[in-house]
Amino acid sequence: MNQIPERLMHVRERIRRAAMAASRPPDEIMLLAVSKTKPASDVAAAYGAGQRAFGENYLQDALPKIRALADNDIEWHFIGRLQGNKTADISRHFSWVHGIDSLKHARQLSTHRPADLPPLQVCIQVNLSGEDSKGGVIPTNLNALATEVARLPRLRLRGLMTMPDPNADTARRDAAFAGLRGLLESLRAAGLDVDTLSMGMSGDMEAAIREGATIVRVGTDIFGARD
Ligand SMILES: *Cc1c(COP(=O)(O)O)cnc(C)c1O
Repeated sequence: MNQIPERLMHVRERIRRAAMAASRPPDEIMLLAVSKTKPASDVAAAYGAGQRAFGENYLQDALPKIRALADNDIEWHFIGRLQGNKTADISRHFSWVHGIDSLKHARQLSTHRPADLPPLQVCIQVNLSGEDSKGGVIPTNLNALATEVARLPRLRLRGLMTMPDPNADTARRDAAFAGLRGLLESLRAAGLDVDTLSMGMSGDMEAAIREGATIVRVGTDIFGARD
């Protein structure tokens, strides 16, 4: 039996409650349904239940789904690690990219973004746990990168994204979420027009919403466990 519509309703309810608890309007928080490794039929089931924004990590996994569902009004977000040889395809097939962490990849995305599409919306990924493996720019380098990315003609810098260390305790995790919000505020103070905090997943969306998330990226709790 397909439980995706029920799971989706449940996640929406969690978002609504977390927003109310934080005295925030629930419609300020966008649910990104992370469909990585799941079939196009699962995306279609969520779409049928009203979901429009979907997140994918792997280009090769995403392209067949994007093609199969091309007639639908879906907004695709690339949330995986960027590689130079993939930026051209990503800039054509996605509306958003959440994991910008180098000027080189940002420039490539801008160069390849087709002229007939609106600018590609991007978030800079920030590494707030001090691990090298996770990707993301360190906070000290953020302002310089954000200033350059904001100038690229075919990108529209929307804000910041982070993935806390999965082994962090809740205090450190919450500190990472609050830290990202502080960094967004510092970019605003520096004159950049940014509004997006992409943070929070199945296990920690409530904490992220409490700290100001405007996009939560939820996979497992909508589509079930991945292999
Ligand atoms: C897989 C993934 C998610 C979703 O994680 P779940 O725990 O399944 O909700 C969110 N963000 C990124 C960047 C991911 O890679």
